[in-house]
Amino acid sequence: MNLDLTEDQVLIRDAVRELCRGEFGTQAAKWDRDDTIPPAAIAKLAEIGLLGMNVPEEWGGLGYDSRTVTMVIEEIARVSAALAIMVAVHNSVGAYPIYAFGTEEQRKRYLPRLTTGAVGAFALSEPGSGSDASALLTTAKHDGDHYVLDGEKNWVTNGRHVWTFLVLARTNGPGAKGISAFIVENNQQGLTIGKSEDKMGLRGSDTVTLAFDHARVPASQRLGPEGEGFKLALQSLDAGRIGVASQALGVMTAAFHEAARYAQQRKAWGGPIAKLQAIQFKLAEMERRVQCARLLIRKAAWLKDTGQDFIRAASMAKLYATEAATWVTHQAIQVHGGYGYVKEYAVERYYRDARVMEIYEGTSEIQRLVIARSLLADGVRL
Ligand SMILES: Cc1cc2nc3c(=O)[nH]c(=O)nc-3n(C[C@H](O)[C@H](O)[C@H](O)COP(=O)(O)OP(=O)(O)OC[C@H]3O[C@@H](n4cnc5c(N)ncnc54)[C@H](O)[C@@H]3O)c2cc1C
Repeated sequence: MNLDLTEDQVLIRDAVRELCRGEFGTQAAKWDRDDTIPPAAIAKLAEIGLLGMNVPEEWGGLGYDSRTVTMVIEEIARVSAALAIMVAVHNSVGAYPIYAFGTEEQRKRYLPRLTTGAVGAFALSEPGSGSDASALLTTAKHDGDHYVLDGEKNWVTNGRHVWTFLVLARTNGPGAKGISAFIVENNQQGLTIGKSEDKMGLRGSDTVTLAFDHARVPASQRLGPEGEGFKLALQSLDAGRIGVASQALGVMTAAFHEAARYAQQRKAWGGPIAKLQAIQFKLAEMERRVQCARLLIRKAAWLKDTGQDFIRAASMAKLYATEAATWVTHQAIQVHGGYGYVKEYAVERYYRDARVMEIYEGTSEIQRLVIARSLLADGVRL
């Protein structure tokens, strides 16, 4: 596994870094306060192609490998985790599945817009099913050349900015094999997009409910074969987990840097608190976790880019990086003392933003199940 970035990757990282730290850096706190990210920020990302990162160039995307995508998401998350999740969800489970599983017609209809500014979302979770996602109740009944969708989705990231929702619904009876995927457009009759959740963190990233009431979706908008929707969703989520890990890495790196900077400025007992061993140990432990997360993410991305099985590695990267982000951001507040608890300092935002990463795209408990099952399937003796 090569740990060095290529020349191209350095150029890409620096360009994204400049945009994020320059233009977005001054606005991220306001987006959090106002709980909204302006469409202009999304348009800016689209302008440099970041809404089509993993779609091949022939379909209007940039054709980045997984390693490059993780690097871009990390850079965005260092400034705004809310913007980073918007980009990560759009790319990994909004646009890419249409390329990977779509027909020629679906690719032609959706990819040109989804790679240049229109936003995609993913609607699997429901009020009664999250981790146990294959228990979903939304139905899609075949009726001539349409499917009629009824049911409710929740926690849909990007909901209010979205053109296309990738919706999972039940077509063929119970269990995972009864689920199919559909591309549903935002102006679909019978679809109501609810209001955004009032969240603890990731403010600015909108998270909505969807209600389907006899929504007649053309059969041509079914993605993949009937009954294959759940498989397709899980495959997309496996890659998405490396993206969430990168988002966590970005937030914890930013928190670590803030803590290190503050520790060298804040004076107590006649000198900077960075001279106190208790603070030094915190900084050392933060850096250790940042670097461990980075290595796990690189390994998962490398496995994926070289066509190897990356599922366990993606879960390990997601589990480690998100739990580390919770810890690092928590400690960054501690290093700041009382000042860490007020909005004037960015660390309180990082802490609120990091917390949810242990929950979405598979909770920490579910990642542990995925890892254990994969180990046992490989014949590891207990
Ligand atoms: C901000 C945000 C954005 C989101 N975005 C999206 C999105 O874009 N699209 C989408 O479809 N969903 C999205 N989600 C939903 C998210 O994926 C779910 O919240 C998550 O999968 C957990 O499901 P749940 O909330 O129903 O919790 P539950 O599944 O009810 O879990 C509750 C607790 O039980 C534990 N648990 C459950 N099963 C097991 C088990 N077998 N073993 C051990 N412990 C277990 C869980 O780990 C958790 O601690 C989002 C959620 C949030 C908060």
